[in-house]
This record gives sequence, structure tokens and C-alpha cells, in this order.
Amino acid sequence: MAEAKNHLHDRLRALAQNLWWMWHPEVISIFTDLDPSLWREVEHNPIAFLNQITPEQVEERASELVLHSRINHAFRRLNEYMEQERTWGAIHCGNINYRPVVYFSAEFGLHESLPVYSGGLGVLAGDHLKSASDLGIPLIGIGLLYQQGYFNQRLNRDGWQEEDYVDLDLGRLPVEPFLDGSGHHLVVRIDTKTTPLHARVWRLQVGRVKLMLLDSNVEANSAEDRQLTNRLYGGDTRVRIRQEVLLGIGGARVLQALNIHPGVLHLNEGHSAFAILEEIRRVMEYDQIPFHRAQRRVALYTVFTTHTPVAAGHDRFPPDLIEDHLGLFREKLGLSHNDFMALGRVNPHDSSETFCMTVLALKSSRRANGVSAIHGTVSRLMWKDLWPGRPEGEVPIGHITNGVHVLSWLAPQMYQLFETRLGQDWATRMVHPDVWENVDDIDDGELWETHQYLKMRLIRFVRRRLRIQAERLGQHEIFNQIDHILDPDVLTIGVARRFATYKRGDLILAQLDRLTRLINDAHRPIQIIFAGKAHPRDDEGKALLQRIAQLSYSSAYRSSIVFVENYDYNVARHLVQGVDIWLNTPRRPLEACGTSGQKVVLNGGLNLSVLDGWWNEAFDGKNGFAIGHGGMHNDLGVQNQRDAEYLYQTLEKEVIPLYYQRDASGIPAAWVKRMKHGIKSLGWRFIADRMVKDYAQRFYLPAAIATSAETG
Ligand SMILES: *Cc1c(COP(=O)(O)O)cnc(C)c1O
Repeated sequence: MAEAKNHLHDRLRALAQNLWWMWHPEVISIFTDLDPSLWREVEHNPIAFLNQITPEQVEERASELVLHSRINHAFRRLNEYMEQERTWGAIHCGNINYRPVVYFSAEFGLHESLPVYSGGLGVLAGDHLKSASDLGIPLIGIGLLYQQGYFNQRLNRDGWQEEDYVDLDLGRLPVEPFLDGSGHHLVVRIDTKTTPLHARVWRLQVGRVKLMLLDSNVEANSAEDRQLTNRLYGGDTRVRIRQEVLLGIGGARVLQALNIHPGVLHLNEGHSAFAILEEIRRVMEYDQIPFHRAQRRVALYTVFTTHTPVAAGHDRFPPDLIEDHLGLFREKLGLSHNDFMALGRVNPHDSSETFCMTVLALKSSRRANGVSAIHGTVSRLMWKDLWPGRPEGEVPIGHITNGVHVLSWLAPQMYQLFETRLGQDWATRMVHPDVWENVDDIDDGELWETHQYLKMRLIRFVRRRLRIQAERLGQHEIFNQIDHILDPDVLTIGVARRFATYKRGDLILAQLDRLTRLINDAHRPIQIIFAGKAHPRDDEGKALLQRIAQLSYSSAYRSSIVFVENYDYNVARHLVQGVDIWLNTPRRPLEACGTSGQKVVLNGGLNLSVLDGWWNEAFDGKNGFAIGHGGMHNDLGVQNQRDAEYLYQTLEKEVIPLYYQRDASGIPAAWVKRMKHGIKSLGWRFIADRMVKDYAQRFYLPAAIATSAETG
């Protein structure tokens, strides 16, 4: 009897332990239906949810709601997924099969309930894992488990950002201790010239893919080092190098504990580049060959993806920090201090250069790429000195444009609508352009209704968040106004991004009078939803954010400009699924790719963006809107002014008129046509399945073939 009673609870726990549920709305809806308020209270965390609901309660609720068959069905589907043999990877990547791709990243953004990411880079890595799982590519992720995550953002009454750090409860996370051969929690140890560093290893299951995360909170470490992995991008340079030693060298040691020789080493950004050194050390020892031969051999199967043209985004360490942390390691590699430093210097003979992780990665990998066509070009220019004498066009950095994991970002309501016209199996064939041709067959009214429903959902979500914020700040005067904030019939613009100054999140405020006229237009008004975090030490970014927050607090703008606190996966999902327009105003050419606009496209929203990053190769004149023509100016003030002018003009002359041009049944037919064209022309291209296939075919397979040829 007890067994039968626990049956559903156990099945739900099995579902919760494999992160596969994160991209299957039919599983999520089981939890929502079981107890909607508990689901919200535990912040969409199924493990916390199951810790708070007894097997008897599950059984009782399931009977009332007839959930048994849905739970059993989900459980069966997960098992089928795990056992599937004829995957794309099995058919196309046979060569990788016996030696997996190892994917290193300092952050992984998979879902709001696993807060070990800060933004775009992490979400991209999470999307990469999910698509690799769906495609059946043998891949293992390696990262760090930050015990306080990034930070929670709260605004105070002045609109100034405050950071809040909360210790994660590991008992509420889908992590399992990774055990060594004798059944103990595996701890890896890295000796340095000062104290040794230790880290525990945790295992997560992301569909068919394993993710291994390290954290330093172990007894063997000093009190200070136990906190080393508390925060993502938190500490000073010393904390940073120690984190990166753990990630790279510690991560590579985990592979050895797993008895895995990587077929491909994929470094997602330079943070993990020390992994290359540990791999070289292993190969030197294993094959008894000297450093330079091992270095060349490892380069054959190393792939490096660079993610930003902003100089501050490339970690650099001074010689003393390098020697302190890697001196012993250097001796094992048989290198002098200068030879070692040269691995991270553009000019090996320039002793004034610090050690750059990106340089180490570029010098040690045969395949390197930027994350959009324009970013490829910018990266070749940026790093051309590493290949003296080569023309810029021949610098060996290519590009693979980023894409988003469709099932994670597409609203279930849109999914169902697509299913009716694109066919039951559309989701397994979505990289084929012809699958999307039938978007034209979707009824205009149905598409518009679905979009309006999602917009209303977004607005209700925003109001709920504003109510919580107003209560906290004691803004009693606005309680009875909250239900009038934002209007579902008004053109709604979403702006959410990291508040780094180059992203220019406030560009639309450049001419406040002009914006105010647009907001208050009696017939064709607009409204704006902002969200985003500034780095805790970036006061300039915080000031920019404050200006927006203060406007949103003022009675003149309260109902049409809002700022949603604590931008995360959950806020992002609501925003990208509900807005009419996604506004993106980076200073060209500093946006490497950008991915949020891609999430918007799938859900029928339209992009209004500077021609930078992915939009520069995606915009065709009819699938959204461009701000300007891709011009740049050396004087930033001039560039800002010009781009702001273009932005207002496009809003006034194109976006607003098109949105409010309605047919007899109230549908903006020309707008809907653009929505459809957007989905059709971009849906197959700017998605993670296409991206991961590109990596597999262009990088992983050749690298794996090179390795097997080399090692026989
Ligand atoms: C998609 C996403 C990003 C990426 O933002 P871009 O500005 O488009 O690069 C950042 N943060 C979160 C939470 C996201 O979901």
C-alpha cells in the first residue's frame, strides 16, 4: 500500500531530478495544477515543491484533478526520451560517440530555479546543453555551483539598485553529489604556491546531457576559500583567478575522475581556458611527449567561442597572481615563467603585458569563433596582432551565430497554434525552413488573439510584481492604481538587458518630450516595460537604471513606463512572450549577438533594433524594424544622438502607424503579416538546434576526427 501511495510522488521526484522538465510545459503544468500558489511560492522549483507536499496530498489532489494519466504520461515520455537511439547525433556524429564533447562555461542559465547564471552568456550555455540533449550529441557540461548565485535586485525608494545575496539551499536543487570510486563525495584538489584549493563535485542531469558543477565550500579549504564560489562575477582579480583555476583545472580533473578523455574541448568564453593547460599536462603524462607536441595535439580538438568585443569582458591577470596560482603547474609543464606568461600575451616578448585568458584560448585552439557575422569581423580585427603579417580577413576566427532553445522560450499557447498548422512533428524538424512556410496558413485572428492573451498574461505578471514592490517600499498611494498600470490595447515595448552603458538601455529617453508625446497620444499611445540588472560595482549602469526607475515612480509616467525588478529567466520568459515590440539599442558594433530578440520572434513579437549582432544579418526589411542603417561615429555623443533620432523616426513613421492600422474586426492585418514573416524567415535560423548543429558539423566532427587520427 505504502508503495502505491508513494507512486505518484516518486514519479514526480524522478521528473524533478532530470532538468528535462524545464522545457516541457506539459510537465510544468502538472505542478501548477497540483497547487498553483505553492508552485509560485517555491519559485517554480519542483524539488522544493515536493519537499513541501506529502505523497498523500499529491495522491488526493491528483485524484480530484484526474492527474494520474498526465503524470504517468510525462514519466513515460521522459523515459522514451532518455532511451531514444535514432537521434540526429547518433546518425550524424558517430565519430564523437566514444569520446564526448566537453563544454566548459562559467555560467549555465537553465531555469529561474537554478540561479547559477547572470545573463546572456549563461542562458546561451543552458540553451546549448538543452539542444545538444535534444539532438543526441554526446556532451558534458562543466561549470561552477555558486552558492549565492548572481544577486537579487531590489530598487529602493530613490530607484537605486540594491543587491541582496541569499544562500541557496542545496537540498532544494536538482544536484546530486558525485561520488568517487569508494563512495565518498568527490573532492578535487589543486596545489598552488600558496594554499591548495579544493572543490566538491555535483552532478546534474539535463535531459540526456550531464552537467558537472564544482563548489569550494568544503572543510579542507580555508574559511576564505570556502566562499570562493559564493558569487558569480563577485570578487576582485584574486577571487577571479581562483574561481577560474577551479573551473578550468578543477573541471578537467573531474573528467579524469570520470575516466573521460575528451573528444572535443569546447570553451564557452575565456573564463575556463586553464582547462587547456590541464589537458596538455594530462596528454604529456599519458603519451610521454613534451609540452609543445602536447600543446599542438590538444589544439586539434579545442574549440573556443569568444563572446564580446568589449575589452573589460576579457579577463587579464598580473604575473604575480599567475605565478602564485599556476607556478607549480608551470613547473610540471616544464616551462619558464616567461614562456608560461607568453601563452597569455599577444606579443610573447612584451613583459609589460598581463596574462589574458582569451589570448591563451586563441593560441591553444584550432577552431575559434565569434557569435554573429559582424562579431566575427570585429573579433578578427580585435585579435589580428596574434597572427602578425596575416591580412585581417585571414585571421582564423570564424563565426557561428547564436540561437535560442525553442521549447524553453516559446509560449505553450503558440506551440499549440504552430502544431495545428506546421504539423504534429514540427518541433523535431524546426531547422528546416520549409516547416515554417505554413505559418502563412495560421488564421490572422487566431494568431492575434493568442498574442493578445500572452500580452495580458505579461501585464498581470508585471502588476503582481509592482504590487509586491509597492508593499515593500510602502508606496501606499499607488495600491489602488496598480490594476490600471499598462493597457493591453496599447502598443507595448519591452526593453530588458544588462544595464551596461554600451547597451544604452535609456536611449529611448534621449528626447523625453518627444517620448512623452508618444506615450500620451490620445489615439495611438505607447507604453514601455523595462527590466535589467546593473553589475554591483557599476555605478554608471545603476545611475542609468535609476533614471528609468524614477520616471516609473512619477505619477505622470506611472501607468505607461514600468520597471520590473530582478530580471531573470522568469521575467525574461514573460517579457519575450508578451511584448509587441522588443527594443534593442546597443552601441554598434559592441553587441556580440544578443539573443532575447530571437526569443521574441518565435512568440510573434517584432524587433526594433540597431543593426548590430544577430539583427544585422537577420533583418530583411519586412521581418521587424531597423534603427538607422548601420552607421557608426567616433564621437559617441553624435552616435547616440543620431541613433535616438532614427529610433523616434522609426517609431513615429513606421511602428506606431502599422500597429494601429486595424481592419473591420480590429486586427492589425499588416502588422500580423510582419509577425508571420518574422516567424517564417527567422524561426528556423536563430535557434539553438541550428547553432548546435553548426558547431557539431563544422567544429566538433572535424576535431573528433583529428583526435582519433592522431591517437589511433
Ligand atoms: C536571453 C536572456 C539574456 C540575453 O540578453 P541579450 O541582451 O539579448 O543578450 C539575458 N538575460 C536573461 C535572463 C535572458 O533570458
